[in-house]
Amino acid sequence: MAEIINGKELAKKIRKELKEEVIEKGLKPKLAVILVGNDEASKIYVRNKNRACEEIGIEFEEHLLPEETTMEELLKLINELNERKDVSGILLQSPIPKHLDIKTAFETISPEKDVDGFNPINIGRLEINEPAFVSCTPFGVMKMLKEYKIHIEGKTAVVIGRSNIVGKPLIQLLLNKNATVIVTHSKTRELEKYTKQADILISAVGKAKFVKADMVKEGAVVIDVGINRDTNTGKVVGDIDYEEVSKKVSYITPVPGGVGPMTIAMLMHNVVQAAKNQN
Ligand code: NAD
Repeated sequence: MAEIINGKELAKKIRKELKEEVIEKGLKPKLAVILVGNDEASKIYVRNKNRACEEIGIEFEEHLLPEETTMEELLKLINELNERKDVSGILLQSPIPKHLDIKTAFETISPEKDVDGFNPINIGRLEINEPAFVSCTPFGVMKMLKEYKIHIEGKTAVVIGRSNIVGKPLIQLLLNKNATVIVTHSKTRELEKYTKQADILISAVGKAKFVKADMVKEGAVVIDVGINRDTNTGKVVGDIDYEEVSKKVSYITPVPGGVGPMTIAMLMHNVVQAAKNQN
């Protein structure tokens, strides 16, 4: 049976350490969150981020903008937050209404306050292995591997999925740690041919129980980024067929309680980091 990588516990430990660091160093971190429109799921995500900030001692400032906000108004707010000395990090909650250009909005957030790591400057810095704010979910995955002392150098790491926020940063992060990285995606033929080679397999697809036991190598480390609703049971499940896969691998992350909690913990890490950098 595989050892479970407990993201919930690890995230708790990270939040505790951040709280102590904020007190010890007398930091005054502040996260400004912009939410445009009425997306219900986004409201829940923002509430969870607010809660995590409160726990750590990060000030939280919410900017709720109406659905009909213009691009000019959104950029004006971002620029004001960029200028403000008391704001350490800026987060634009996605999705934003369709008439707005999210790419330009992300580009406008100062790279020094871009705690989500979506500004192309930070993406470029990651590419050349320079200090950068890294997208929180892939950052959380790397933190899990590190904390569980999983050796990356020279290992074959297979990533399923190539989205800008998960798959692509993961590819670069693994490469920066000297893994041999194989990238697979929706157009990949014979997916299992690649997944079976993985010493470290990371799935970020978004399909319930997509990765079956016969696609995975014995003793592999398996990280499940997926968050899906099982149509039969209504429960939240990952991309990995956990029950079967966990019988043959060495480490596995559960869903829920795996990568999910790490994402917010790493966002908190980035906000505290931004405050330290700006101090
Ligand atoms: P996305 O839809 O942007 O990307 C999905 C990727 O999967 C694409 O690159 C696509 O090419 C690939 N894909 C689709 N079908 C495939 C197939 N048959 N074979 C191989 N590859 C295939 O999604 P995303 O934003 O990267 O998120 C992926 C999953 O991770 C979702 O379930 C999402 O909810 C979850 N997620 C979790 C967290 C977290 O905090 N745990 C954060 C972000 C995303």
